[in-house]
Amino acid sequence: MRADIRRINAKLEHMPHGDMGRVKNPQNLELTSSYLSRIDASNPLHIEARSMFKDRWLNPERHYSSIQAIYEVVYRGKSAMRHLQQYDDYRSKLRSEQPRNRLVEEILFHCWTRRACNIGDDGSASAIPCSVKGCNLCHVLQCDFSGDNARRGGNWGTGIYLTTSSEKADAYARNLNDRSGKRHLVLLSKVLVGTPKRVYVKNKSLTQPPSGTDSIKAMTKDIGGVVKYSERVVYRDDAVLPWLVIIYDR
Ligand SMILES: [Zn+2]
Repeated sequence: MRADIRRINAKLEHMPHGDMGRVKNPQNLELTSSYLSRIDASNPLHIEARSMFKDRWLNPERHYSSIQAIYEVVYRGKSAMRHLQQYDDYRSKLRSEQPRNRLVEEILFHCWTRRACNIGDDGSASAIPCSVKGCNLCHVLQCDFSGDNARRGGNWGTGIYLTTSSEKADAYARNLNDRSGKRHLVLLSKVLVGTPKRVYVKNKSLTQPPSGTDSIKAMTKDIGGVVKYSERVVYRDDAVLPWLVIIYDR
């Protein structure tokens, strides 16, 4: 899997994000806020996302039945544009601090995806995030990371928890208004991990990465750590750029 992640991350360095202008607004609406645009199954991005989801589902004893749709986040509106700029600025800063060719960015699944609506479930060509207060997912899609929209407490304090494992992301995906529904959603983001701190023990009091580092990289049990599947934690809003949404049935 490491080779797979390196390949995707190397490719990522050359991909534009936000895709402003490339994705047409199918409903021809005057949108002032970000929305989801469905990606065709033949699109290379769809193929890449699908393989990330399938290849990183590591436990054969847990199952999902099928991927229903994959969407890309299209950024619109002042706050999303400001976030995009902040992300770019932070990435430039991290790159300037790294030795040549060292990657600072990874594609990761969110380990805290809770929604109170059914965005994307019908597979329509585009989907607009709701404005329900408790719909954390839709706030994150609008680049609003305040409160517990993207953060939670965990083994490394309060931060934005992410993982390389789609199956682990699935374990943290919640439909708040339909807990028994089979259709679910996971969110993939571009994440600025910078120089990660490799951790083998828990530290629940953290509110920022240890000095001299930019993120937490929790090591797995098979190499002496405490988690079953790889985990990353970042503590800054501008370290995360929501990118792809995968709708699937359990
Ligand atoms: Zn919503």
